[in-house]
Amino acid sequence: MNTVTIIDHPLVQHKLTIMRDKSTPNSQFRTLAKEIAMLLVYEVTKDLPLTMREIETPIQAMRAPTLLNEHIVLVSILRAGNGLLDGALELIPSARVGFIGLYRDPETLKPVEYYCKLPENVSGHDVIIFDPMLATGHSAAAAISKVKEHNPSSIKIVNLLAAPEGIATLKETHADVRIYVAALDQKLNEHSYIVPGLGDAGDRIFGTK
Ligand code: URA
Repeated sequence: MNTVTIIDHPLVQHKLTIMRDKSTPNSQFRTLAKEIAMLLVYEVTKDLPLTMREIETPIQAMRAPTLLNEHIVLVSILRAGNGLLDGALELIPSARVGFIGLYRDPETLKPVEYYCKLPENVSGHDVIIFDPMLATGHSAAAAISKVKEHNPSSIKIVNLLAAPEGIATLKETHADVRIYVAALDQKLNEHSYIVPGLGDAGDRIFGTK
């Protein structure tokens, strides 16, 4: 059963409200996506393993905690995931990064992969997947299946908003994946947009509409 963590920190909720507001310009929307991603990643990485290394402070030598190099792999689901990836990379600059591109087949309505570039040696590492909107959950499920082919030690997914339908899809397909969201919304509409949502995340991040 998926663990769903709703990050209801006041800063996250405040920024999310500005993002939902249709009068918020694209440039501010993009900045807020990055800022919220940083706050979500702070929470998502709470249990990352640390190792000790020898350093010298100006006063004396000590063993101090540090992240395991290259341990974390961030994966963006193109293209809207990149809006969150930027914030995650600010916090974890040593992370390795992968990209998965999917489109929806107009006939089958199933996600079809058109691009995939993952770092080498994902095996045994912790993967965090980014996609702002967990709507039907089909793209997320396909991306998770792809990542699983590389035997990571864990997979978490970070979304700004999730619909109950998306959570249900991941429960059916990948119940082991932990889900982190800023808010759980009411439902999907007839076009599979999240209600009340924030519109098309990709268009609002990149100003394409
Ligand atoms: N993708 C979006 O960008 N917005 C939604 O509401 C659903 C899917």
